[in-house]
This record gives sequence, C-alpha cells and structure tokens, in this order.
Amino acid sequence: WNQRRSVRPGRRLHQATDATAPSRLRIGRDLRHAVEHDEFVLHYQPEIDASTGHMVAAEALIRWQHPQLGMIRPNTFIPVAEDQGLIGKIGQWVLETACAQLHAWHAAGHDLRVAVNFSVEQLRRRDIADTVANALERFDLQPDDLVVEITESICMRANDRARENVARLAHLGIRLAIDDFGTGYSSLSYLKRMPVRILKIDRSFVVDLADGPDSTIVRNIISLAHELDLIVIVEGVETPAQHELLRVMGCDMVQGYLVGESLPPALFHDAFLAPRQHTIVEPERI
Ligand code: C2E
Ligand code: MG
Ligand code: MG
Ligand code: MG
Repeated sequence: WNQRRSVRPGRRLHQATDATAPSRLRIGRDLRHAVEHDEFVLHYQPEIDASTGHMVAAEALIRWQHPQLGMIRPNTFIPVAEDQGLIGKIGQWVLETACAQLHAWHAAGHDLRVAVNFSVEQLRRRDIADTVANALERFDLQPDDLVVEITESICMRANDRARENVARLAHLGIRLAIDDFGTGYSSLSYLKRMPVRILKIDRSFVVDLADGPDSTIVRNIISLAHELDLIVIVEGVETPAQHELLRVMGCDMVQGYLVGESLPPALFHDAFLAPRQHTIVEPERI
C-alpha cells in the first residue's frame, strides 16, 4: 500500500467537474432520460484494514455521465432523483451493478465485499428486503458480502417501515453501516434500536485530527463503538499522519484519497486488485 499511496491513479481524469455545477432544473429535466438510457456508472473506492493495509471492501459510488455536462457527482443529482421518485430505479441499478461486479471479482479470485449507499426512499419501499435477497441470489453472493450504508440523518428520519426494512436486511445477514457518523443529531439512541454493525466516522473529523477537540471526539467514538461491538471506519483519510494517528487510536478501517480515490472498475482492478495477485500468502485466505 505504501508504494501505491503516492500514485493516485487517474485522479484528475476521474474527478467530477464540480465547476460546471448544473442547475437543479436542468438536472431534473435530464434525469429521467438518464435513467432510461443507462447514463450512470459506478466507481469503487477501497476500504482497508487500518493495521494490515489489506483491502476488505470496495464502496460503490455512483456517477452520472451526462452527455453534455460531463461527470456529475451524486450529491448533485441523488436529492433530485429522490424528489422525482426516480431513486427506486437508480437504487435498484446500483444494487444489481455492484452485485454483478462483486460476482465478477469473486470469480476472478478476489476476496472482498462491496458497500452500497441506500437513500431513505429506498428503505421505505415495501419490497426492499426481497429485492436485496434476490440480487444476492442472482449473483451468487452471501449476505455478508454486502454492506448497506445509510447516513446518520436517514436513521433519524426513518419511519416504522424503514426501521422494519432495516431489521429485515439485518436478519438476512447483511451488514448495516451508519455513514457520515457524527454529522447528524447524534442522539445515539438509534444505535440501540437499529441493528448496526459498522460506524463510518465522517471525514470532517479527520482534518484536524492531530490535536484539538476532533482527536478527543474520534478517540471516544472509537471506544464507544468498540464497547457496542461495532466496527469503525474513518472516511476521508488523506495523509499518512492521519492514518497513523487513527491506527494508534484503534480505528479498524480507513478509506480516503491516501489509499485511493474511487475509480471505474477497470482502473480499480489495475490499481487495487491486480497487484494483490503478486502477494505471496494472505493469511486470511489460507
Ligand atoms: P459517502 O457515502 O459518505 O461517500 C464518501 C464520499 O467522499 C465520496 O464522494 C468520495 O468520493 C469522497 N471521498 C472519499 N475519500 C475522500 C477523501 O480522502 N477526501 C475527500 N475530500 N473526499 C473523499 P461522492 O462519490 O461524491 O459521493 C457523495 C455522497 O453521495 C456519498 O457520500 C453518498 O452519500 C452519496 N452516494 C454515492 N453513491 C450513491 C448511490 O449509489 N446511492 C445513493 N443513494 N447515494 C450515493
Ligand atoms: Mg457511503
Ligand atoms: Mg460518508
Ligand atoms: Mg458523505
């Protein structure tokens, strides 16, 4: 990993052009067409074990390849998709595409999981647990191959149906991760009500990790999470110093530009999967 850290393959090329910030109106107008014409792609970002550097999972992150506007980031169009009732279709596409990709990676001998982001609208759908179970079956995956990420703010907004669905997903054996942890209301009481397995600490806590309150907050979230038997992932790790501090704090996994940004499948393979074929023995897989 150390060697690869400085490389950041294809960063420029694949970073979205936020400069063009298209209007919500334009987004809304073009989105339905995009859904019907397959204009979305998934990029994948590695999540690694903070101590060993072993890649445990890849997070699937959606991008919209707009024919005129170029690559558009999810924060620009996911909220619009929710408003327009298109998130169900998009979410289904994300789930199936990520499962198909993981199936292909497994078939090629790569042992990892995939993490998929769910929106609150998806969790409110009556059939979501069946949809997920079908996708797993269709692509020959085990429930613990899949992590479903929902943001902390979704947890706060979850209605009974959403909570019921979360329970069903957990019952299937799918791991649930709380995304952007620390940015919501953080009453923490939902940690008792929801069958959460993973906490992803938001990257806003990483910037000033060296000293000051963030360091205390992160250390305490990690110890709280461990007492609750949760796995901790810290997002947005960009420097070796941050990684080292987090490792010492007992953080389980890290994700961020230091290890690698999100990449389309072929580049993800070249950067993170192909090199692993050269490692001699990986103890977990003996
Ligand atoms: P997220 O799930 O918290 O994903 C992490 C975001 O941080 C990603 O932005 C990722 O590219 C970015 N990131 C990763 N490492 C670093 C780093 O070291 N530094 C910085 N500054 N940023 C980093 P992205 O891809 O633009 O996604 C934004 C959000 O959109 C995601 O946040 C997630 O909430 C949502 N999203 C992404 N894909 C999907 C999807 O398929 N469905 C739904 N419903 N939401 C999605
Ligand atoms: Mg996420
Ligand atoms: Mg996040
Ligand atoms: Mg986020």
